Amino acid sequence: MPAPLLIPCPSCNGLNRIPGERLGDSPRCGRCKSAVVPDTPFTLSQTNFASQLKGDLPLLVDVWASWCGPCRSFAPTFEQAAAQLQGRCRLAKLDSEGNQQLSAQLGIRSIPSLILFRGGVEVARQSGAMPLPQLLAWLRGQGI
Ligand SMILES: [Zn+2]
Repeated sequence: MPAPLLIPCPSCNGLNRIPGERLGDSPRCGRCKSAVVPDTPFTLSQTNFASQLKGDLPLLVDVWASWCGPCRSFAPTFEQAAAQLQGRCRLAKLDSEGNQQLSAQLGIRSIPSLILFRGGVEVARQSGAMPLPQLLAWLRGQGI
């Protein structure tokens, strides 16, 4: 049997072990009972970033700000992607205004910016919004 996947809970940061075949069954966190693989983006911050980088599923981060028009219009696309990629990739939003230190650390020069992490390491980055088919194609190119 394949080893279970390690997945951090978006709510409490607790690491969950989820068997691959149970990813589609809306698994709940063993600690706080929240959804471990939600079908909507969760919120990243300086506080939970290190914990959320862990685990076996890739993490796609949308760096945005509330004053940014293109960021706001991209938000529904990112939500649709989260629903389509549930169980394959974790999607999270990082508010660059509220997390300026982390944004600087990530070298964010323009928003929206998309950063894909795998095994805690950045593997791809894309600046600017894109339509859903293009976003999914870009991620497919990254093996997602
Ligand atoms: Zn939890």
